[in-house]
Amino acid sequence: IPESSKQMLESHDLLKKFYHHLLVNTKEGQEALEYLLNRGFSIDTIEKFQVGYALDSWDFVFKFLSKRGYSADILEKAGLAIFRERDEKYFDRFRDRIMFPIMDRQGNTIAFSGRALGAGEPKYLNSPETAIFTKSTILYNFHNARPHIRKKEQVILFEGFADCISAVRAGVENAVATMGTSLTDQHIQLIKRNTENVLICYDSDSAGLAAANRASNMLNEAGLHVKAALMPDNLDPDDYIQKYGEKSFVSDVIGSSLTYMAFKLQYLRKGKNVNNEGDRIQYIEEVLKEISHLPNAVERDHYLRQISSEFSLSLDALEKQQRQIFFAER
Ligand code: ATP
Ligand code: MN
Ligand code: MN
Ligand code: MN
Repeated sequence: IPESSKQMLESHDLLKKFYHHLLVNTKEGQEALEYLLNRGFSIDTIEKFQVGYALDSWDFVFKFLSKRGYSADILEKAGLAIFRERDEKYFDRFRDRIMFPIMDRQGNTIAFSGRALGAGEPKYLNSPETAIFTKSTILYNFHNARPHIRKKEQVILFEGFADCISAVRAGVENAVATMGTSLTDQHIQLIKRNTENVLICYDSDSAGLAAANRASNMLNEAGLHVKAALMPDNLDPDDYIQKYGEKSFVSDVIGSSLTYMAFKLQYLRKGKNVNNEGDRIQYIEEVLKEISHLPNAVERDHYLRQISSEFSLSLDALEKQQRQIFFAER
């Protein structure tokens, strides 16, 4: 690997330790630490994920790393410093934020995401794409989760850092997160090399459900076995654990996850009134389309029968229409 990338990795590693030290050992980090403890993070969790704190300073990191021999150019290319044309000065990208280090598969720190304390905007600020960080290929916590994914023969996908971390604290160690971006083909290839089974556990708000729907399509098309877990009241997994506890999360959310098709049926039904003829016809069309995507004939038959009895429609007509949809899509 090029010398510049090596220096970027080193500076990230140093900075991760420094941010962590600021959070757990200093007066400046106290407010951030209290924020995390209030959110249910434990000291153990903070250690395990090497969570840190970036000082409320314009150039503390820039000076800290410059003193250790890293050039301004490297720090800018690493995404840690920003060059301001106006006064030709460098300043720190992350200020007064809780810092989550992002690791690659080998455990090298390659980027950060910084969360505002409280209501600041943006809520999360990520490192930019750099020579050592390509967001579309990285799953948060993959490095820790990999052996558990292999052992349990399943990966559980989360939307956010806090969700993934809370899940791990609840004993769900095969947890990874997509960090707010949508799932990419590279993510799927990475998953596929380790397991065939994916449980999607995104936020249960409308954005999360739409993202789960997209992700389930992509994973299903890639030939993986997909399930989805839903929570009540638009909660996200971290909120759910706060409200109902870790045990309930493991048994009532993870343990009661839906099959791909059961998830689709719920998803497609949301916001529709099937007593209304237009809604009902639309729902049935959409369900038939989903059924035509199922690779397994027995499964297709099962859901066709279910629709047939639920809406008192002839199985024969449903089968015909389903086959029509199937061939129209080829
Ligand atoms: P928290 O629990 O800390 O409020 P969250 O994970 O519930 O955060 P969401 O709004 O559900 O936050 O977003 C999910 C994920 O999307 C976040 O964990 C983060 O990775 C990413 N994200 C959210 N807001 C932003 C943003 N403004 N810029 C970049 N990424 C973001
Ligand atoms: Mn969300
Ligand atoms: Mn969320
Ligand atoms: Mn949340």
